[in-house]
Amino acid sequence: MHEASIALDLIRVAETVALEHGGRVLALTVRLGQWSAVVPEALQAAFPACAEGTLLEGARLSIQSVPGVGLCPLHGRVELNLRRGLRCPHCDAPTPELLQGDELELDELELAD
Ligand SMILES: [Zn+2]
Repeated sequence: MHEASIALDLIRVAETVALEHGGRVLALTVRLGQWSAVVPEALQAAFPACAEGTLLEGARLSIQSVPGVGLCPLHGRVELNLRRGLRCPHCDAPTPELLQGDELELDELELAD
């Protein structure tokens, strides 16, 4: 499953940080773009099994959803509507560049002392 390999990647990154600080991870927050191909529920579901046997075992995963933002020639930065695609929600101009909304990154780690 796509989300399981993503969960494993996240765990690997978080473990590197946790190792540097010599602690276990109690909780982590991930920023996930609404325009990325990752389904938050599936990532949430895949996480506990993937974390088993790592420093993240039992850690709480929070997913922060990041809306898509494009650049309209008329309106500047605009929040995009997934159903309408890469178009300004105000004037329908194409906004080919996605400024944010496709990210998947580790935002915060809460480590045990
Ligand atoms: Zn516009």
